[in-house]
Amino acid sequence: MTTSHHDAIIIGAGISGISAAYHLQKYNEGKTYKILERRQALGGTWDLFNYPGIRSDSDMYTFGFSFRPWGDKSSIAEKAKIVDYLTDTVLEYGIDKHIQYGVHIVKASWSSDQSLWSLESSDGEAFTCSYIYMCAGYYNYDQAYVAPLEGIEQFKGDVLHPQFWPNNADYTDKNVVIIGSGATAITLVPNMAKNAKHVTMLQRSPTYMGSKPAIDPVANNLAKWFGRWAARWWFILSNMLLYWYCQTWPERAKTKIIEEIQTALGSKFDAKHFTPNYKPWDQRVCLCPDGDFFEAMKADKASVETDLIESFNANGVLLKSGKHLPADVIVTATGLKMQFFGGIDFIIDGESLLANQSYAYKGMMISGVPNTFLAVGYTNASWTLKVDLSHRYASRMITYMDKKGYKQARPTVASDLEDIDLIDLTSGYVQRSLGTLPKQSTSKPWRLNQNFILDSLTLRLTSVDDDEMVFS
Ligand SMILES: Cc1cc2nc3c(=O)[nH]c(=O)nc-3n(C[C@H](O)[C@H](O)[C@H](O)COP(=O)(O)OP(=O)(O)OC[C@H]3O[C@@H](n4cnc5c(N)ncnc54)[C@H](O)[C@@H]3O)c2cc1C
Repeated sequence: MTTSHHDAIIIGAGISGISAAYHLQKYNEGKTYKILERRQALGGTWDLFNYPGIRSDSDMYTFGFSFRPWGDKSSIAEKAKIVDYLTDTVLEYGIDKHIQYGVHIVKASWSSDQSLWSLESSDGEAFTCSYIYMCAGYYNYDQAYVAPLEGIEQFKGDVLHPQFWPNNADYTDKNVVIIGSGATAITLVPNMAKNAKHVTMLQRSPTYMGSKPAIDPVANNLAKWFGRWAARWWFILSNMLLYWYCQTWPERAKTKIIEEIQTALGSKFDAKHFTPNYKPWDQRVCLCPDGDFFEAMKADKASVETDLIESFNANGVLLKSGKHLPADVIVTATGLKMQFFGGIDFIIDGESLLANQSYAYKGMMISGVPNTFLAVGYTNASWTLKVDLSHRYASRMITYMDKKGYKQARPTVASDLEDIDLIDLTSGYVQRSLGTLPKQSTSKPWRLNQNFILDSLTLRLTSVDDDEMVFS
């Protein structure tokens, strides 16, 4: 088999891969690149997931690209609109011509002698490149997280997982129990309730939920009067303000969030189901567009149980409290299995990369790994805000290297660092994977800001040549 060479290879054709391609072709004119995508479709997350009601859980003005702002009047968008937006973007910028589908990269080896990456696919296809853009997302596409649900095989109805939703799933007029309380469960409840007899969300502990209009009148007026950029900035600033408020006055924020749910639910409100035992934004706050979750509860189509599972039986779930939840269908919305680097085996000059021994550099490169840019978004705001900034920075770095005649850029830890976790969320899926992820530190450039304004300043204005970046 022949080996094809490109200046840059982008792994993954999701929203991050498209952002990488746009920035490369705009700011590094003349560089050749290829996007390698293991699946047969564009869109990553937005193509993979098919469960009822799948939609964005942050506003599309900030989740959309900085270079092609979202233009639809609804700021919370369902899957089809997001896929259309991504498809239109790749067509508009000619990025589609650079995508090769069905290539699953499994190994990446760096040679310092040649200043070259060699990539290998699962069926033996080989590629070389000077730069890698890792845009492979953050979770395992083949396996979801399977919570230990002992005895679930006793249940005789259908058991569904949101990541592998079958096209023929039938829950019309059936009793559904959804196990979980994250963003997916909160999306599923009102959407399955439209056809199901009744949907029960069974949670171990409550999650923060907030209702927002799917069509935001302020954003739409700003877009009409001043253009889409104004709507984007409205969301950037209002989301940052909200996050800051929650972090600064967690008790006040908690009271306010719970009061709003109480108002939305009226007599259906039970504090036990809506009072989390952590502070707002210690885990992501889940969004209910137009209060759809609460509407389903008020219509008696949905309810919440906060309890532990005692056992499963042929026709439902027995709870520790002694209550039995009848079920024809059980949905295990128990989460994703996190995986960075697309499951690729990274080898640097013959040595395997030990990701958990390395540090994230400016939240977009990894110590010891040359010429590789990592697309990792925010956990407290839209993913794409950070990814766009990272790719603009990568373009600046490539331009700088070309100007100076450098072939290698390697983030290098120069002094002892105080370790802190890479992601400061207490959510189960984050906690389960921290041991496998790179670390961050208390000092720059090994610290993630999780703040768009600070990152905009750092990643747009500061020099790419600092003490921790070794060029050669
Ligand atoms: C249901 C759901 C809803 C979400 N909603 C939001 C939201 O509203 N706002 C928000 O900010 N975030 C949201 N997220 C997080 C979301 O996944 C990201 O924001 C964003 O879609 C990630 O884009 P990405 O391109 O980085 O990764 P992905 O969308 O995961 O795409 C990665 C691509 O890389 C490919 N790939 C992976 N490994 C390899 C390999 N080894 N070789 C070749 N190809 C490979 C995959 O097939 C995939 O196409 C959501 C996540 C989920 C699961």
